[in-house]
Amino acid sequence: MANILQLEHVAKVYRSGNRELKVLDDINFSVEAGATLSIVGPSGSGKTTLLGLCAGLDRATSGSVELNGIRLNNLNEDQLADVRNRYVGFIFQNFQLLPTLTALENVMVPLELRGEKNIKSRAMDLLDKVGLAERGHHYPTQLSGGEQQRVSLARAFSNQPQILFADEPTGNLDAETSEKVEKLLFDLNKEAGTTLILVTHNLELAAKTQRIIRIKGGKVNG
Ligand code: ADP
Repeated sequence: MANILQLEHVAKVYRSGNRELKVLDDINFSVEAGATLSIVGPSGSGKTTLLGLCAGLDRATSGSVELNGIRLNNLNEDQLADVRNRYVGFIFQNFQLLPTLTALENVMVPLELRGEKNIKSRAMDLLDKVGLAERGHHYPTQLSGGEQQRVSLARAFSNQPQILFADEPTGNLDAETSEKVEKLLFDLNKEAGTTLILVTHNLELAAKTQRIIRIKGGKVNG
């Protein structure tokens, strides 16, 4: 199976004024298409940073990140956005739904960005898949945390991503809702072959993925 993601000698340094913080140092790993993987490690160890680099939300300071054979390092903002729209789904810990749009409209955004047709009915189908067909006209503040997370899942699924990144996808959810969200994620992996990359503190969830990467002191082991 081909690699969908490949990192070589990746480092990330945050700079503010004269201060430099090296968060990631010489990270190397690759992920086969269709695999499931968790990134675990202490708080502040760089997990979210690493996920952002892999997903094309940010760029490495040095080293190479390749997604689907495309080297992300040298792409400009527009090119990165294009790669994300084509291949990547992303689920944020705090959902990041647009507050002025309804659940349905939030799911329609990526479809609109891709210039697709029948976006309303497709967005409805996606909301139905996450069990929220009845809540399409609700605004994010009118939904529970679990419902908002399921809307963000529907949004992430909407462009049929080849790879889905999820940052603490069950972090703010009760046990029952966590289970529902987990099932949606793993079903997507099984049914559509979507590569799944999770950042999580939840070791039970991490154990359900095929592989676990541990990050500590800017380095990866495992
Ligand atoms: P984790 O997800 O493991 O908790 P993060 O990747 O969020 O870790 O953060 C790693 C370190 O980088 C932390 O010390 C954090 O304060 C710092 N950091 C994260 N984002 C930025 C940023 N945009 N600018 C400066 N420092 C940052």
